[in-house]
Amino acid sequence: MTIAANLGYPRIGPRRELKTALEAFWAGRMPENELLDTARALRAGGRAVQQAAGIGHIPSGDFALYDHVLQTACALGAIPPGYGWNGEGPVTLATLFALARGARGTAAERDAGIPAEAPALEMTKWFDTNYHYLVPRVGTGTPFRLTSNPWAEAVAEGMATGCRTRPVLLGPVSFLLLSKAEDGVNPLALLPKLLPAYAAALRGIADAGAAWVQIDEPCLVTDLPVGAEAAYRQAFRALADAAPGLNILLGTYFGGLRENLPLAFALPVAGVHLDLVRAPEQLDAALEVAGSEQWLSLGLVDGRNIWRADLRVALGLAQRAAQRDGGARRLMVAPSCSLLHVPHDLAMEEALEPALRRRLAFANQKLREVALLARGLDEGERAIADALSESDRVVGERRADPRVHDPAVAARLAAATPAMESRAHPYAARAEAQRARLGLPLFPVTTIGSFPQTEAVRKARAAHAKGKLDGAAYEAEMERLIAESVAWQEEIGVDVPVHGEFERNDMVKYFGEQLAGYAFTKHGWVQSYGSRCVAPPIIWGDVSRPAPMTLRWSRYAQSLTQRPMKGMLTGPVTMLQWSFVRDDIPREAVCRQIALAIRDEVRDLEEAGIPIIQIDEPAFREGLPLRAADRDDYLRWAVACFRLSAAGVRDETQIHTHMCYSEFNDIIGAIAAMDADVISIETARSRMDLLEAFTHFAYPNEIGPGVWDIHSPRVPDAAEMASLFRLALAKLPPERLWLNPDCGCKTRGWAEVKPAVENLVRAARVLRAEA
Ligand code: GLN
Ligand code: ZN
Repeated sequence: MTIAANLGYPRIGPRRELKTALEAFWAGRMPENELLDTARALRAGGRAVQQAAGIGHIPSGDFALYDHVLQTACALGAIPPGYGWNGEGPVTLATLFALARGARGTAAERDAGIPAEAPALEMTKWFDTNYHYLVPRVGTGTPFRLTSNPWAEAVAEGMATGCRTRPVLLGPVSFLLLSKAEDGVNPLALLPKLLPAYAAALRGIADAGAAWVQIDEPCLVTDLPVGAEAAYRQAFRALADAAPGLNILLGTYFGGLRENLPLAFALPVAGVHLDLVRAPEQLDAALEVAGSEQWLSLGLVDGRNIWRADLRVALGLAQRAAQRDGGARRLMVAPSCSLLHVPHDLAMEEALEPALRRRLAFANQKLREVALLARGLDEGERAIADALSESDRVVGERRADPRVHDPAVAARLAAATPAMESRAHPYAARAEAQRARLGLPLFPVTTIGSFPQTEAVRKARAAHAKGKLDGAAYEAEMERLIAESVAWQEEIGVDVPVHGEFERNDMVKYFGEQLAGYAFTKHGWVQSYGSRCVAPPIIWGDVSRPAPMTLRWSRYAQSLTQRPMKGMLTGPVTMLQWSFVRDDIPREAVCRQIALAIRDEVRDLEEAGIPIIQIDEPAFREGLPLRAADRDDYLRWAVACFRLSAAGVRDETQIHTHMCYSEFNDIIGAIAAMDADVISIETARSRMDLLEAFTHFAYPNEIGPGVWDIHSPRVPDAAEMASLFRLALAKLPPERLWLNPDCGCKTRGWAEVKPAVENLVRAARVLRAEA
């Protein structure tokens, strides 16, 4: 019998109940027991949905109040000193949340002995997803002991409702590879100290009545560092010995195992899960090396995207596995990865265009697809004939939909020439033309685009969206905000003002809403970190720009001042990266379509006399594939798309780009190849360390290294900004440096932004006097 399995279920709640509860708890409006009750109810709801969908292996222990990596670290005693945990006993919520968010100076923290200044752990992206995990800090002093057994508790919780679940653990090798080891220790050297904690967890899980445990080792789809292979062998030997009665399913996802495939199957595990959406080609190799007793878990339903599965194709792949070895192969069918990365339930999207809605599947719908495929495998195609023909019908409808395939877009794409990706002249010539036109001082002062999204700004936008504020009144209000901000920038002496982005809800959504080919959900929330969620837009058809998107506001802003106004756009790679992208054509093709739409906007801005245009690409680095071998191809097309969007302007029009949360060492060649006249980056927090890549590479164009960390409410004074800037001056030629904050100011209040930008201008004066 094929087992229908799931690897992980969304935990935020269909109506973001976890978010609401967490925020109420943090604000002191909800007691701890109510928060825990909410969490328990969400888990029970998830189990019920999965049972009803026909899932046999329902995951447990995949839930986390904030983050599953943090939860793992806390359960294993991987907690640095200074967070109120004494090295023994369970970890309090005060400690958990202090690690997650930094201490807030609450009474609970004081009671737990957590110093008010305890900072949050670092946060970083979970592989190539938009989920962020907290990076555990480990070292030779880490106690590594089982402080509680959330997995055994989760099994018991399921058992109490008659549901035998499969607990999910982040495996020990991936756990260490994802951690930050202190004092230069190789994290893998800590494995022998860590394994007993895992062994104890597995014994508890077996005692609680589980038959299977899922141990995720997503690092197996990445380029492994030296020593990892030995660590895997040692770790899984220990795990298998710890609880011999427990079946271990090794979870791998987000790509193919490639050279690590023989290793994965050689480990003493009862089964291996494969991501066959990202890497269907690995099925044959897996069938070759899998032991005859080993279970294969086929990840056939896309856990990373929201498209309905092509059931016929998926079933075909599953049948290939089933028919091998005379039909004796033990199989599971599952999503490609945890469903954490897709929204809960499509049924809530009542307003979505029906044709599009038919093509989608969120977590709950994907579970049904999994169950159908398992049934089709066991009982034959006829048993799921209706579902197959419905799937065929939707696939055909999608293929034939004229809204998906716009001949004008195809023609334009086909006609795009390589010349369109290059500015007329190299940077040096452009810089001269720009200098003559703009007449900017040394170290020009600018900001990254957005100003505070105050209560009033958001209210005006919301009222307009609801039809409570008519178009004219809304425009008047936006113009008032713009005029106020431009007058202020002029008065304090900002050299390159911006309009402030008051009209934008979100840097991707704002553009997506004005482009053909994009759609939006109402409840399509996906956890980004902790209580934070995003609802990515859906790119479902060819993208084009029916009308100018920002022109009206930028033109108005420029009309108010003699200073060169900077127009603000979101770049094609970021538009792609922060959306659910159609899967019927390559990502590169979608990105080129967006690039052409942005290109039109850039040209319109230029035509309207906007002399400087910034094309933000904060997500440029995020798109980098997990495997080094795949990176050149990505960088090739990502750079080409940016250039396609930017290169349509004359020499004297200055193109800026902006990137935050980026490291540049391994992509600096590509950054230079983007050939923006000016790039602004986030360097304040790292005290200019991130600039190293640019100096090393002798980056040829202009740079604005951020001197104000906008993530913190602290306002640095002019002297502090100047001294930070001098670090940059020591590394780069002065005539190519700009002065700006790390990122946009939308999350800050005017009480911080006003003095900070004034200090920025003061710093510029001091620095110019020194030059
Ligand atoms: N222009 C955007 C802003 O200022 C850039 C945001 C970002 O980089 N994340 O808000
Ligand atoms: Zn930014």
